[in-house]
Amino acid sequence: MLITQGPQYNGKASKRLHVMAKPIGAACNIDCTYCYYLSKQDLLEYKKGCSPQMDEDTLETYIRQYIEGQNTPEIIFSWQGGEPTMLGVDYFRKIVELQKKYQPQGIVISNDLQTNGTLLNDEWCEFLAQNNFLVGLSIDGPEMLHNAYRTNRAGRGTFKQVMAAVELLHKHRVKFATLTCINNLTSKNPLEVYRFLRDEVRSPQIQFIPIVEQKTFRTTAPQKWKPQEQLRQGDKRLHPWHKNAVVEPWCVSAEGWGDFLIAVFDEWVQHDIGNVFVQYFEASVETWMGRKNPLCTLGEICGKGLAMEPNGDVFTCDHYVYPDYRVGNIHHQKLDEMAYSEAQQKFGFAKSRTLTSQCQQCDYQFACYGECPKNRFIRTKDGEPGLNYLCAGWKKFFSHADKALALVLRATGNPVAHGKFSDAVMKNAMPKTALRQLFFPTRF
Ligand code: SF4
Ligand code: SF4
Repeated sequence: MLITQGPQYNGKASKRLHVMAKPIGAACNIDCTYCYYLSKQDLLEYKKGCSPQMDEDTLETYIRQYIEGQNTPEIIFSWQGGEPTMLGVDYFRKIVELQKKYQPQGIVISNDLQTNGTLLNDEWCEFLAQNNFLVGLSIDGPEMLHNAYRTNRAGRGTFKQVMAAVELLHKHRVKFATLTCINNLTSKNPLEVYRFLRDEVRSPQIQFIPIVEQKTFRTTAPQKWKPQEQLRQGDKRLHPWHKNAVVEPWCVSAEGWGDFLIAVFDEWVQHDIGNVFVQYFEASVETWMGRKNPLCTLGEICGKGLAMEPNGDVFTCDHYVYPDYRVGNIHHQKLDEMAYSEAQQKFGFAKSRTLTSQCQQCDYQFACYGECPKNRFIRTKDGEPGLNYLCAGWKKFFSHADKALALVLRATGNPVAHGKFSDAVMKNAMPKTALRQLFFPTRF
């Protein structure tokens, strides 16, 4: 089976595609310190001073191919940058118009848009609400934490503008999720960040992104690293604050990532479960139940989501927009052919086929699968290359959350398919009374 196939739809094998389209490329109105995309302006050789905006012909070709390449009841377009709102509302009106032109009968078309929020106004929000866009808003926490790295070109923080966008999104009832970068600072303030998103932003969906950038990330594509240069897990130079660190100083450390997740998870389990949506925790609940992980980074295979630049160049993944990972151009090849190509399949399956022995023997392989391959640039303690930089943090979090996740699932009558407290383990390991005591101690 192809990794892009899903269940049957309309009597045919369902074909699903996902592309992160960048109609304005890497151009952005602000200048966040850790933006992994701004540097693409040099890497992909955009002409100096020339706006890399996707022209109408490319836009129409893309929309037509994207729709024709799928056979599913819903087709989801994703628009990202750079900062796509720099294109103006009319550009997006044109997008919606073109989608309607090619929309097959009975098929729902939806859109999501990733933005820093600073250009949103009433006109934008009215348009987004009317056309049912899902907005991903980047916000890194309370003012001091947000302004540390999310600055404009003059170096001033963008917090006030982003909070104005939050109010506008609520006012116009635009569907939105928040994306919060977990860096060297936010990772040290987990509850401040989480409570702010929950109570001040009233975020309908909280998503965290660990910031991991090697010092060579602007020039060297993932997996093109020299194995002999990979440091062993535990090496001090893997700490972002070390003077000879191999990662940028604003990165989260592996342990810091684990500690951040643990602190937020405990607060969520105690107070907010069922009321506040935290993407990683919801995904963990699903995984512990035995379902597929909805997140590519923690799933068994990747490569289902390509990325496309304004000129129609297509890349294997949003994190692999490097010349080495260009798979073609929509003016010369059809999008679905590129998505289902052998090379793309190979890329997707490599995620679980290239796991280190440490991952293969890990108790939490089912929940992690070695995380995103772009972060697999360290060696295991035994010296095997290709381990994930965040491994220690993920393991710490999974071991911590394991029992609570089993407890939650059991209390809600759901199966516990995985972990040290799974149904199978508990059935064999303990008599019923001891089991009840472990999970419901207050009743005894
Ligand atoms: S490379 Fe990383 S971000 Fe891209 S699809 Fe794979 S897991 Fe997801
Ligand atoms: S926690 Fe570490 S060892 Fe376990 S699967 Fe994830 S990266 Fe591999």
